[in-house]
Amino acid sequence: MPELPEVETTLRGVSPHIMGRVVAGVVVREPRLRWPVPPELHGLLVGQSLVSASRRGKYLLLAFANGTLMIHLGMSGSLRIVPVGTPAALHDHVDIIFGRNLLRYHDPRRFGSILWQPGDVTEHALLAHLGPEPLSDEFTGEYLFQRSRKRTQNIKQFLMDSKVVVGVGNIYANEALFMAGIKPIRKAGTITRRQYQALVERVKFVLARSIEQGGTTLRDFVGGDGKPGYFKQQLLAYGRGGEPCVQCQKPLKEVRLGQRTTVYCTVCQS
Ligand SMILES: [Zn+2]
Repeated sequence: MPELPEVETTLRGVSPHIMGRVVAGVVVREPRLRWPVPPELHGLLVGQSLVSASRRGKYLLLAFANGTLMIHLGMSGSLRIVPVGTPAALHDHVDIIFGRNLLRYHDPRRFGSILWQPGDVTEHALLAHLGPEPLSDEFTGEYLFQRSRKRTQNIKQFLMDSKVVVGVGNIYANEALFMAGIKPIRKAGTITRRQYQALVERVKFVLARSIEQGGTTLRDFVGGDGKPGYFKQQLLAYGRGGEPCVQCQKPLKEVRLGQRTTVYCTVCQS
């Protein structure tokens, strides 16, 4: 599933090829994504030039003078730049044509979405209540500490709540908690200010490292028919249940928390 680093990598991979370009056409082969692709998209976009491309949480925001296209990759979505005339393959659902190239949306499972927001995109219902970006200066140990007082929810689910902070997916929550030495089942309200400072540092570290690794895949976003932007990572906890802890060699414990696989060390995390 594309997480924040893959979405950020997608943004960096595709935006240089479409920035400032004028939309010449929109082709929707399959409008049935998580929500229907707006049928008026062609009329809204043709003749408009792309003013900015950014990311909020896991939404890619392509801003035009008359509104913003919000693209979410869902479980299996990807975007790439291909020359106009490149035949569409199975699951290539939407093309946005920019001059000689087009931005192609591919999504086998169709849990992604392409939505249109006229006016201020930050007021869209899906964005309005999101917490701060994890790599921003707003996301600090002090912020998490204040936000978590009296919270009895476990720290892992608290950290994965997009109202608290956006884009800390399951892999990154597992990794950051392991590195910070905090047991994922601890109640969020019992964690000290100092521990939250350590946790925030680790969250920023694992996300930034992952985005940096994604940088090596940027050329995969142009041409070809590969699946761009999803990169293998070296993980210490996630996916290693039952394997020895890299710090103490004791087998890592695997449990389910809120339906999500959770791996931790009963010795190194408390
Ligand atoms: Zn250990």
